[in-house]
Amino acid sequence: MDFAEVLTRIKEASPKHRLDIGDPDLPPPPELLGALRKEDDFRYGPAEGLPEFREAVASAFGVEPGEVVAVAGGRHGLAALMWVFRRRRLLTPTPYYPGYFDIAGVFELGLGLVETDGGWMPKFAERGVYVVNYPNNPTGVVLPREKVRELVDVAEFVISDEIYRDIVFNGFTSPMELSSSVAVVYSFSKVFSVPGLRIGAVIAPRDVAREVAKFNRATVNVPPTPTQRAVASVVDILPRRRAEVSEAYRRRAELAAGWLKLEFVRPGGAFYVFPRVADDVRCFEAALAAGVSLLPGSLYGDPRHVRLALVEDEERLKEAFTAVNAACGGPR
Ligand code: PMP
Repeated sequence: MDFAEVLTRIKEASPKHRLDIGDPDLPPPPELLGALRKEDDFRYGPAEGLPEFREAVASAFGVEPGEVVAVAGGRHGLAALMWVFRRRRLLTPTPYYPGYFDIAGVFELGLGLVETDGGWMPKFAERGVYVVNYPNNPTGVVLPREKVRELVDVAEFVISDEIYRDIVFNGFTSPMELSSSVAVVYSFSKVFSVPGLRIGAVIAPRDVAREVAKFNRATVNVPPTPTQRAVASVVDILPRRRAEVSEAYRRRAELAAGWLKLEFVRPGGAFYVFPRVADDVRCFEAALAAGVSLLPGSLYGDPRHVRLALVEDEERLKEAFTAVNAACGGPR
């Protein structure tokens, strides 16, 4: 089953609990909604992003504005960077975010897989350009600092998908802290619960940043300017928002650990759990029949697991977990 078929099945079944796609349920910050309502300037802007947006993101990351490029969501930033490094050997750990293969597919790029152990830790040994994502979708794991060191030591360059960097339970080391050969893909989709706004940023060495701006020019040209302006005006709420959303999702992950009868590696961030099952498609179908949509692990390259997105409140999650236990538990 591919992603489209899975989504069609979910739509047909119209389940009570939607734990499939990672669409955050926490309300967006009122400060951002207020700033968006005030926007009345809809003109074009520079391909690399508005100066105020680049400055705001640069100050949040402790870099120079010239190292920041606005993009129309994290996925667009990933496409830009995979295009920039299209002539290099690209590698990504398994299980993987399927978006990397969507992008590799349209550019006709190879994307090599790196095996991981039972705790979802990859062995970084091969030279190449790595596309990594921590906190991870679908497993929720975060790499310990020594692993990040191993990564930057072998990588020619790292494309670090840090879409979930604001949802962290016990700390997170970005490869950017250990090496300058790193481009971070950042997005406001998850932290502000606004995936439809399509706004993110690439933070990268200036030569790479210039290439990302070139990709913007060839695709969206200008990432949405009212969105950039509104987001830039509220960047100072990020530390508080980060703490709030991390705590909410941490509690849900804890609830999953207590409630779900399926085994999974405890996440260190993001809002997913990736438990082991006998057969992912069977579990998907049985859970759907019981009123819960989740995603088969084969979409992430692993048919022995399923992904649950923790995007409902705690009461509703308990009810959903009970249904999943009955649908997917039993002999493995
Ligand atoms: N990377 C990962 C790992 C994701 O899970 C997602 C969204 N689900 C994205 C990138 C893209 O997010 P967006 O384009 O909304 O910023």
